[in-house]
Amino acid sequence: MLDQYDQQFKGIGKDSPFQDSPVVPSMLEGDKTIQFRCHRDVKCWNACCSNIDITLTPYDVLRLKNRLGISSGEFLKQYTFPYEMDKDGMPGVKFNPIEGGSACQFMVPEGCSVYEDRPNACRYYPIALLSLRNSDEYVDRTAYALVQEKHCLGHQENRFLTIDDYRSEQGVADYDEKSRGWRQLVLKRKSAGPGIGRPPAASNQLFFMACYDLDRFRAFVISESFNNTYDIPVEQMAELVADDEKLLEFAFTFLRHVLFNEKSLVEKDGAYEARMERLKTKAEAIRQEYLSNRDKIEDEKYCAPPGQPGDCGCGGNDERQ
Ligand code: SF4
Ligand code: SF4
Repeated sequence: MLDQYDQQFKGIGKDSPFQDSPVVPSMLEGDKTIQFRCHRDVKCWNACCSNIDITLTPYDVLRLKNRLGISSGEFLKQYTFPYEMDKDGMPGVKFNPIEGGSACQFMVPEGCSVYEDRPNACRYYPIALLSLRNSDEYVDRTAYALVQEKHCLGHQENRFLTIDDYRSEQGVADYDEKSRGWRQLVLKRKSAGPGIGRPPAASNQLFFMACYDLDRFRAFVISESFNNTYDIPVEQMAELVADDEKLLEFAFTFLRHVLFNEKSLVEKDGAYEARMERLKTKAEAIRQEYLSNRDKIEDEKYCAPPGQPGDCGCGGNDERQ
């Protein structure tokens, strides 16, 4: 199944401008055996957490903010920074290291202080998860690559296991499943091609809120304007209010509806027309503002300075300004 993608990787190491990249340029399937073990007595203990570059999935954010007992907004502010995942500004978040350093804020001498809720990238290491999708397909395909960094001595340990066994040991299946909707959105946007152009800033903001700032998204979902637009059964709404995981799943459905017009939600009768009406009113207000500014600029251009013949009293061309 991976053959066609493997072809795309052929020669990548030879021609790559990143020849020192630790990612071994080969597509691996789950039954591939690797040599690896990480334990407290390795000489490189905590080396991987001392210099981090970790992208978080929406489910990572959910798990960590709940573990810490803080809101998604507080978590994002204190522990992450935003970045653009592609040239169209698709928003992603990465871990913010300690102030003035490169180590993870959760690293302690004993290892990881949030081990049970550590992000998926930390669980996978030293495997990299690759999600691939052809432009004519909706479902993504999964493959793996091996990351062999010089400082990581776990590759010299005498233990051999398949990638599938390693995934199961690290508990990534649940994480992969709960981030699948997000990965598909990311892939779909990336493979949409240049034809649709750069999405408006508002759609990136919506993507950010729905994927990462879950508590703010919840407030949006229970708002009057949302409920005037979408027909969500009462029982489902109760679940969304009470259950973060259900809310996150719903966030992906919602984004498919608004970003890709997939009709995955039911809109209330007249909601589309009401939205168009609001947009028309807003567009008209912007047009009126533009016209009145333009008239003012024109008036000021031809008005004499205050107190001189031709001064209309508008204050334009006041030499004291
Ligand atoms: S979350 Fe834990 S495992 Fe991941 S980088 Fe931080 S300390 Fe290391
Ligand atoms: S063996 Fe690798 S994964 Fe384990 S602590 Fe060392 S650098 Fe980190």
